[in-house]
Formats: sequence, structure tokens, C-alpha cells
Amino acid sequence: MQVTPDGTELWRLTLQYSPVGMTLVGLDGRLLMVNHALCEMLGYAAEELSQRGFQELTHPDDLDADLEQFERALSGEIDSYRLRKRYLHADGHEVWGDLSVALVRDPVGEPLHFVSQILDVSEQHEYEQRLRAANDELEHERQTLSAIFDTVNVGLLLIDRDGRYERMNRRHAETMRLPFPGGHAGEAGQVGHVYFPDGRLMSTEDMPSYRAAHGAEFDDYTYWVGDDAAARTAFSTSARQVRGPSGERIGAALAYQEITDLMRAMRVKDEFVSSVSHELRTPLTTVLGYLELLADRPDLPSDAAGQVRIAQRNALRLLALVSDVLDVARAEAGHLVLARMPTDLTTLVHEAVETSAPEAEHRGVSVRVDAPERLVAEVDESRLRQVVDNLVSNGVKYSERGDAVTVSLRAAPGAVEIEVSDTGIGIAPDEVAHVFDPFFRGGQVVASQISGTGLGLNIVQSIVVAHGGTITLDSEPSRGSTFRVTLPSG
Ligand code: ADP
Repeated sequence: MQVTPDGTELWRLTLQYSPVGMTLVGLDGRLLMVNHALCEMLGYAAEELSQRGFQELTHPDDLDADLEQFERALSGEIDSYRLRKRYLHADGHEVWGDLSVALVRDPVGEPLHFVSQILDVSEQHEYEQRLRAANDELEHERQTLSAIFDTVNVGLLLIDRDGRYERMNRRHAETMRLPFPGGHAGEAGQVGHVYFPDGRLMSTEDMPSYRAAHGAEFDDYTYWVGDDAAARTAFSTSARQVRGPSGERIGAALAYQEITDLMRAMRVKDEFVSSVSHELRTPLTTVLGYLELLADRPDLPSDAAGQVRIAQRNALRLLALVSDVLDVARAEAGHLVLARMPTDLTTLVHEAVETSAPEAEHRGVSVRVDAPERLVAEVDESRLRQVVDNLVSNGVKYSERGDAVTVSLRAAPGAVEIEVSDTGIGIAPDEVAHVFDPFFRGGQVVASQISGTGLGLNIVQSIVVAHGGTITLDSEPSRGSTFRVTLPSG
């Protein structure tokens, strides 16, 4: 026979096995009956708990709030209430409970006792606390970043994947009116008063924001902005892609640094260098002319003839130096003009080797040419002679007695290759990246007092680039160096 529990039994079973803390509370606040879950939650045995009132189990700071509701229920103002409050565990620590209380009345309406359910929400509370702390920290971080974003003297712009402007700082907003006096639509690539250093107007595809919106990353992209050519402002721009958690492109960040003063100073320096070199060249040429006349005089005493030769040698060195400085200034200003014509590179290479022969012999370095019978390319002959002369004389200069320099010339599809290779002192790995910088001279070279200005390779590179070619370098200390020039042949 199956026994169906009556109401009281059902209540007792529910109370006992509920996963939620439950208790019957007398009108004086004492716990009349407690369930297992509540004992667990507060760390007491059932007999211990039944001795106590909820008042002493409640955290003192939360007691008033509970008592107030308790009294309101007793006075008939409310039937039930709900409260989040702290309890005190038997070992003293706080337990957060979500308390629901209902007042039970007898058939005539007199209060009998309270039924309370207490859900342990300590974990949830701790989680909420941590979440709040993390949120506070995040907010603090956000405010700090926002302050930096708006205070820095660099224009900052964030664009989304499709090139729409998402956010810009105050500095960028201020400078936007220079290129876009009529306003900006907030889409990357809008054409405005933006000019390349050589004065050409930038097209949509060249605009930094457009390039960044299409995945480009760059540094020091320099240009001028402003309608009035005499009062333009220069900017240097960098861009980086912004990626999502799985590496997908979600946009780009751009930084705009104003560099007008720097550009003006550089321009003044270039103009100064170029005009000084110009001014020096004229009197030097005159000095050389008169020295030549002097050297040709038959009545010159032999000791004076020797002195004139020394004066000639030094005046020539000075002229070469002034020409180099002028070339660097011209190349930097983009004024390296080429006069191309079909030129036999084989002859040019042989002549360069002949020029370096006396120095090579003096230093005990052999120079060898490996070239086809004839190889014609459309180049500026005198400029290319400068390239080969420079590379060969460097090969000789930076080699030791017994070393060898090889100049190889060959045709490649649509191009010609000139390779100058030596078995000399080589270049330290950390210096390789700098040898093409103007005035750069290697540490070992400076220490060994081999003379030079550090301008030769810079000029070589400018000439090669002006021809649409490239120059690369492979070098190893004590093993030698190989410079490879590739030029388009047509
Ligand atoms: P310069 O020879 O007047 O110093 P360059 O511009 O021609 O100036 O060369 C720059 C520097 O590069 C040199 O000072 C030297 O340190 C290094 N360098 C150039 N060519 C060679 C070479 N063939 N072997 C070793 N070092 C070289």
C-alpha cells in the first residue's frame, strides 16, 4: 500500500531536502525549525541553530534593515519581504544570503510564524564584486587613455575596416581644416589640399587614410597640406592595422606628426650646402687652371714643379669632395637629372678598372673584369661611370695586399647586373644597413685612418635609384663584400 504524505509531512520533507536554506521563525525571531541546507550554509548543527534568533546570526551592519521589514510584517503593513543581507557563519566569516520571508497567519488572521528561504549568494556576490572592480579599473583605464588621446600633440585617427572614420583626437580634428577647409565626409581617401614633397597633388589612392584602409602599414609618410603653397604645413604619418582576437583586420590607426619646422630647416640646410658647394667650385676650377698653366712652364725649377704637383693633387681632391657634397644635396632635393643614352657598359667597366689601376697596384690588390664583349644599356654614362668608379675604388681601398676585386657584368631579362666583389676587410653586420647613409664611415675604417668622406655610396645609391634600379650588399667581416647593381636595360 502506498502512503501519501499529509500536508505537514510534505512540508517537513520539502524543508529537509530543499537545496535552499529554509527555516520557520518565531514571532520573537528565534529559529523554530531549520533545514539541512541552512545548517550547511551557516556551519551549525540543527540543535545549535534552533537555539538562536536570526538577530544574532545577522551581520550587525545589515540587522536594522531586516528588523525594519520584520516589524512592518508583524504590524500587518506587509505580508512578505525580500532582502539581500549578510549572515555570520559559525567560524565568523560573512555569508551573503538572498532572503525571502512570508508571514503565516492562523485561520483568524493572527500571526503564527514566518517562513524564510535563504539562498546562499556569496559566490555570486564575490563574482559581482570582482566584476565591479574590473569595470572600475577598465573605466579608469579608459579615462586615462582618453585623456592621453586628447592631450598628445600628435593627431590620432581610428578608421574601421571600410575606411570610415571612427574616432579622432582633438589635435587631428584641429588640423583637418587645413587640407579640407570645406569639411570632410568621414570616409578615407577624400582628396583635399594634400601635396607630395615635390608639389604634386595627392590622389585618393595616395592618401594615407586610403592606404591604411586598404591594409598598408607605413612610417614617416611625408607630405604638405594647405591651399596656399607659401604657407603649407608638413606632416609625417604612420599607420598600423588594428586586428581582432583571431587576427582579422578590424580597422587601422593613424598618427599624424606635424614636421613643418623640421622640413623647413632641412630645406635651408640643403640650399646652404648646395650654394656653398657651387660657390666653392668656381674658384677651385680657376686655381686648377692656373696650376696646370704653371706645371706646363718649361722654366719651372724642379723643386717648384714638385710643389705644383702636390698643390694640383690636393686641389683635385677638394674639387671631388665639393662635387660629392653637391651631388648628395641635389639627390636629396630630387634634382638628380639623368641624360640617358645607349652606352656600352663593357667599355665603361674596363675604363673604371683602368682608372683604379695605379691605386690598386700601389696597394697590391688585383682587379679583374668578367664581362661580355659588349653590353649596351640606356643609362647616363657619366653618372654610371661615377657608380662603377666608386664601387671599384672602394673595393681596392677596403682590401689588403694580396686581395682581389672582381667586376662582373651580365645581362638579365630586361635588366643588366653589375657586381663588384672584393675579398677585403668586409663590413660589420650592424653597419651593413648604414653604409648608404650620407657621411657614414665604418668603425674599423675610421680607426685605420683610411681617408674618405662617407658620401660615395650615398651618391651611388641615388644614381642607381634615379635609373629605376636597385643596389644590394652582401658582406662578411674579413671575407669581403659584394655590391650588386641591377638596372633596367631599356
Ligand atoms: P668613404 O669610402 O668615403 O668612406 P663610402 O660612402 O664609399 O664612403 O663608404 C661608406 C663606408 O662603407 C666606408 O667608410 C666603409 O666603412 C664602408 N665600405 C664601403 N665599401 C666597402 C667595401 N668594399 N669593403 C668594406 N667596407 C666598405
